[in-house]
Amino acid sequence: RTVYLDGRFVPFAEARVPIMDRGFLFADGIYEVSAVLEGRLVDNAAHLARLDRSLSEIGIRNPLSSEEWTRLQTELVASNGVREGLVYMQVTRGVAERDFAFPAADTPPTVVMFTQEKAIRANPLAESGARIVTVEDLRWKRRDIKSVALLAQVLAKQAAASAGVAEAWMVEDGAVTEGSSSTAFIVTGDNRLVTRPLSTAILPGITRQAVLRLCAEGDLRIEERPFAVEEAVAAAEAFYTSASAFVMPVVAIDGYLIGDGRPGPHTRRLRELYMGMALES
Ligand code: PMP
Repeated sequence: RTVYLDGRFVPFAEARVPIMDRGFLFADGIYEVSAVLEGRLVDNAAHLARLDRSLSEIGIRNPLSSEEWTRLQTELVASNGVREGLVYMQVTRGVAERDFAFPAADTPPTVVMFTQEKAIRANPLAESGARIVTVEDLRWKRRDIKSVALLAQVLAKQAAASAGVAEAWMVEDGAVTEGSSSTAFIVTGDNRLVTRPLSTAILPGITRQAVLRLCAEGDLRIEERPFAVEEAVAAAEAFYTSASAFVMPVVAIDGYLIGDGRPGPHTRRLRELYMGMALES
């Protein structure tokens, strides 16, 4: 497997980042993940736009243009022969003697890119639906930035793993913020699609954006508002979205079945619609 590190394609085993990298010492960096389907990047322009925004919000200059990012991603996907999976991109504030404040302005950011093969379309979990648990949202107040500081999400996902389920939805003041690595949605009995509005409380999901766009034509009314765990448990359907899960049905929350405990019709249709869009991109 080849990876990209600071301007070069190198073998995976030879890619090394110095211990003084600010990503390692301070989690001072951001990341992005695009899906690959049939060898092609899915909704990649939107991911690169979010990458650019994350960088600008923390004052790191984007070291590459969108065209350069795309060319490098495409080259890496091709050289690793990835048909289905992910491209992971990370940019940190670079390598400097340890000091909280920013290093000298001419410090080059560290740029890392690697691919992972993963079954996205033929994911058996999408057939059965995922069971999830809820946990307290322990994160900082700028969750709109795709920061590599992911300790709260690591603990949330481990709580899910320990419970033998796929995902954890994080909860703040009684309302669901989002999944540990996904956006949370419910469908009410009267055909409303409910998801939290964009703010600094959640990451602006790229898959969320696509699903809301796809919904515009259907029979679901979109309601962007916070929802409580109790409302989710009582909902007709629930699902979560991410670049790596696409649209994933949720069939149980904290052990309570959603609907009849099987993926709902709206969720299945949205997964199909999203898949169609992804294959065209
Ligand atoms: N929220 C969080 C906290 C995430 O980590 C992710 C996955 N990156 C998402 C939402 C979903 O975002 P996207 O659809 O852009 O993958």
